[in-house]
Amino acid sequence: MTSHVMPTYARLPVSFERGEGAWLWDAEGKRYLDALCGISVCNLGHAHPAVTAAIVTQAGRLLHTSNLYRVANQEALADALSAAAGMDNVFFCNSGAEANEAAIKLARKHGHAKGVDKPAIVVMEGSFHGRTLATLSATGNRKIQEGFEPLVEGFVRVPYGDAEAVAAVDDSDVVAVLVEPVQGEGGVRIPALGYLKRLREICDQRGWLLVLDEVQTGMGRTGALFAFQQEGIVPDVLTLAKALGNGVPIGACLARGAAALVLTAGKHGSTFGGNPLACAAGLAVLDTLREERLPERARLLGASIADNLRAAFAGNPHVVEVRHLGLMIGVQLDRPCGALVALALEQGLLINVTSDTTIRLLPPLILSDEDAVRLAGLVGSLVNAYTQPNNL
Ligand SMILES: *Cc1c(COP(=O)(O)O)cnc(C)c1O
Repeated sequence: MTSHVMPTYARLPVSFERGEGAWLWDAEGKRYLDALCGISVCNLGHAHPAVTAAIVTQAGRLLHTSNLYRVANQEALADALSAAAGMDNVFFCNSGAEANEAAIKLARKHGHAKGVDKPAIVVMEGSFHGRTLATLSATGNRKIQEGFEPLVEGFVRVPYGDAEAVAAVDDSDVVAVLVEPVQGEGGVRIPALGYLKRLREICDQRGWLLVLDEVQTGMGRTGALFAFQQEGIVPDVLTLAKALGNGVPIGACLARGAAALVLTAGKHGSTFGGNPLACAAGLAVLDTLREERLPERARLLGASIADNLRAAFAGNPHVVEVRHLGLMIGVQLDRPCGALVALALEQGLLINVTSDTTIRLLPPLILSDEDAVRLAGLVGSLVNAYTQPNNL
């Protein structure tokens, strides 16, 4: 039977029926340790009771009214997120691409207000910002852009992790810098500490907006609620999605200072954005991250998993590097390793491989100590078997 789903994904031959915490069960009752979390979405694990209760309660009360009216949950989540991030206000949407789309529109309109007719945004090589036309144009990956030309113009690209390359940009059309604190899709690339701080300085000197895409790094993943908090800076614009609803679609574009005054009535919108259900989930996620001290948990777990992985790979010359920021973990090999995903699946483990040679682990922040040890052990033995000489 041919599928009526458009083949936009090369899917693995498994479908899950049920989840609890860090574990998923397929239709045959086989269980899988989920070290990917729906790509950093279910940071609180599957079926977290606080999120379930919030959704169920809200669903029995009211799902949607549109943004033609005030939405109490939206206002409450905007208050909570703004306070947590040190920002002034929030535009709600339904995905990461939409959050970045809002940020790009905001930056352009801010540019026009300053008299720049063709405002440009500095973006990075290897970046990922989404699949809409503007966000794929901002993305630093030709494979994602190919076939969709003409691209949206107004992006100036520089190498990632090199703040001086941003400082060297000599273009009077530039109005903003858009950057991920860690490149997730780009291969778990972690810039040296001080990178964001230096970008903040450059943006201040040049009058540019610093726009951080924390769609993947946000919501506790890297060991702080937001990755930028580990650098002691605050951006002008911050985008969130993925884990903000723990699986309920929601995205957010936060702004501060002058940037918070840019998008006024009629300038942007979303029918579903910030509806009562999505915001109920967001409020429950934010509360739970705090109550269970999960950003701190991510920091501790990330360090212990990375230590265990390094110990497992001692003497394996094919492992180039284990790198991590909190529970955003990359294991880089000296060869393509996409085949590991199916091998791991057979063993009841969900992982991801990105940029060909990097295993990406994004386990839930509620992972138990025991499952953290199990995860490092499984990945260690899989990789060591895969890189044995007879597999060359
Ligand atoms: C996943 C991701 C996006 C896109 O989010 P969608 O919800 O898939 O549109 C944007 N930026 C980053 C950094 C991401 O990881």
